[in-house]
Order: sequence, then C-alpha cells, then structure tokens
Amino acid sequence: MQTITVLGATGSIGCSTLDVVQRHPERFRVFAITGNAQVDLLMRQACQCAPRYVVVADEQYYAKAVELAAKYQVTAEILCGAKALEDVACAGEVDAVMAAIVGAAGLLPTLSAVKAGKKVLLANKEALVMSGALFIEAANQSGADILPIDSEHNAIFQCLPDNFQYGNLSQSGISRILLTGSGGPFRERPLESFSSITVDEASTHPNWSMGRKITIDSATMMNKGLEFIEACWLFGAKAKDIEVVIHPQSIIHSMVQYVDGSVIAQMGNPDMRTPIAYGLAHPARIEAGVAPLDFADMANFSFQPPCYERYPNLKLAIEACEEGQAATTRLNAANEVAVAHFLDGHIGFCDIAKVNEETLNKMEQVSVSSLQQIVEQDAIARDVATAIIKGKFAC
Ligand code: NAD
Ligand code: MG
Repeated sequence: MQTITVLGATGSIGCSTLDVVQRHPERFRVFAITGNAQVDLLMRQACQCAPRYVVVADEQYYAKAVELAAKYQVTAEILCGAKALEDVACAGEVDAVMAAIVGAAGLLPTLSAVKAGKKVLLANKEALVMSGALFIEAANQSGADILPIDSEHNAIFQCLPDNFQYGNLSQSGISRILLTGSGGPFRERPLESFSSITVDEASTHPNWSMGRKITIDSATMMNKGLEFIEACWLFGAKAKDIEVVIHPQSIIHSMVQYVDGSVIAQMGNPDMRTPIAYGLAHPARIEAGVAPLDFADMANFSFQPPCYERYPNLKLAIEACEEGQAATTRLNAANEVAVAHFLDGHIGFCDIAKVNEETLNKMEQVSVSSLQQIVEQDAIARDVATAIIKGKFAC
C-alpha cells in the first residue's frame, strides 16, 4: 500500500491521477490533496478519496473551503497556505508525491518532497526548468526517486536502459534523444494569419486535453522548449543530444536512438493516465483505463522538423538551455506572465514570444546557484515582462 499526496489535485493531471488511484484501492491510499480556486471540486474529491488533509493554496479560499467541507461532510483536516503545501509533500507518512501544480507555484512544495526523499511523480516541469541543478542535487542527496510524468519524458524513461537515470548517455550507447511534439493547432496555419489567432483557437489542442497554461504553451511550442530543458536535467543530456521531431499524430510519445542504429519508441493513445499509472506503480504495470492502440484504425505516422519561424519560443528555450539556469528561470517566468496576459486578452498570440525575448534581452547575465537567487530571478523577470507589456499594450 502506497500513501500518496496529490499536489494540484483539481487540475487536469490531478484529476487523472485520482482516477488511476481509485481504480486500485488495494494499492494506493490518499494522504493529502491540494488545490487552489476550485474549492468545490476539491471538496468533492475529498469526499471520494477520503484524504487525511485537504490544502487550499491561497488563504482567500479557506473560508469557502471550510463551509463546503461541512456541506459535503468531509472529515479531512482543512489547511491553507504555502507552508501547508510543503508540509503535506514531506510528511513522514507519505511514500509518493504527485507534483502537478502548474507553474512556478509548484517549485517549493515539489522541492519539499524531493528533499524529503519521496518518490516524486514529476508533472510540474516548470519546477525543474527553474531549479534544475539544485533539484537534481537535492534528489541525489535525499535519494528521492524522480519519475517523469510528462508523456515525452516518461516515454524516454521507458526507452532508456534500466536504471539509467542520471547515467551517461554515450557510455550507454545512446546517440540521441528524439523529443516528439504534435506541433499544436497551428502547425499548418499560414504564418501571415498568426497575429489574428484568438484565445479560443489557441486553447484547443488537436490531441491532448490539458490545463489552460500548458495548452497555450503547446500552441506556441514553448511547451516543447520547456520539455527540452526538462529532458536535459532529467537525463543528464546536453542540448546537442536532443532533437525535436514533429509527429502530428501524438502516438509516439518520444524515442531514444542508439549508436547501433536502433530507435526505441514508446507508443500509446494520448492519455496522461498511461504515464501516471506507470509512475504510480513503477516498476510494476497497472491498468489505467486507457484504450489500447488500434493499429488497424491508424492511417499513418508522419514526422517533420520544427520551423523556428513558426515556433520562436522553441528557439528561445533551446538558446536559454544552452545559456544556463538564470536564462531558463527568466524565460519560464516571462512566459507565465505573457501567457496570463494573452489569456486575459491583453496581448496577441505573437506577442508572447516577443515579450519573452525582450525580457531575456533586458536582463544582464548573472549566474545563479542558490534557491534564493532563483526565486529572485523569477520575481525580477516577472516585473520586467509585466513592465514590457504595460509599456507596449497600455494595459
Ligand atoms: P491545470 O491548470 O489543469 O491544474 C493546475 C493545478 O495547480 C490545479 O490543481 C490548481 O489548483 C493548482 N494551482 C494553480 N495555481 C496554484 C497556486 N498558485 N498555488 C498552488 N496551486 C495552484 O494544469 P495541468 O494541465 O494539470 O498541469 C499541471 C502541471 O503538469 C503543469 O506543470 C504542466 O506543465 C504539467 N503537465 C501537464 C500535462 C497535461 O496533460 N495536463 C502533461 C504534461 C505535463
Ligand atoms: Mg509533454
């Protein structure tokens, strides 16, 4: 029996996690679930999975949460605030933590689980993008097992030799990591019409159903850029070891190429319950509720290289990855700000990459090594990006 904390239970990954968990009551017990604005859903989840603790991140939702807990007869203790998020991630009773808060907000609770040596199911890619070296160092020190949940990284993990993690790519006969991406909804849209892309158009992914921020990141391919950086940290890779391949069908979730010419791919329907079930049960395999692939029904697989003119954010991310930790932290922060403003209708689709690039250009090169410096760089980049948006778009 594994005892689990689900950080970000009310999100797309959180809901899929509870779905898999509830299919296997003999294997998993829920210790804590956390959420933020969606307190009604959070309390209904608490009724179903009976955790010991329910945490609302922001104090402003606490009174509502307590009121709903009484209404739904939730027996769990209701907590709130940043410290409570960290506490339920590192509590002694917890075996595994699903890190599924979106964005930089997930950094500290995810690190709390890593430092406590938990099995960490890592969906929150932004945490790793921000804190890379520190995160991996903390995992090495505490003995935390990091299981990638992002479908591409989970696929790569499955295609690597057993016990590879943090190994050496070339010593293991690996010549390349092939990071696949669908290309998003605008793969074929004429470039001239990009400036008129609406929020609704960018919020519809052809293959995956996901949270709002990652859906926009998929449309700009910043998501692939963040994943590029994530792959470097998770697999000890350099930028030259990773190739992004557009595969519009999202059936192959990524591949590993070996020096003998073999390419090992992991395939499946685009349903996050597969990597989630893999991470939860690892090294065992458990049923996830995912429909099996029907090869008779599959028309064709296609592949193409990414075009940076179409996806400038991908290029920015690869360059930031080569530059170092300060650049990736800043890019992530600027992007969170730009995407939020795009979703609020303040800036256009193409402006997201422009704000990101200008933020990086405006900030002087520094090197960061401590968590405090990382948090500082994140905050400064948010201010710079916000000032750029206010200056340009008068919002
Ligand atoms: P989502 O927007 O659906 O859910 C986000 C969760 O984070 C919610 O539970 C929300 O309450 C919580 N949250 C938001 N702001 C918070 C704050 N300030 N403090 C504490 N909690 C907060 O997002 P999602 O699609 O489930 O993605 C979650 C993470 O997983 C992201 O980092 C994303 O990149 C990654 N991921 C998602 C998918 C997917 O298919 N959805 C795939 C791969 C990776
Ligand atoms: Mg992914």
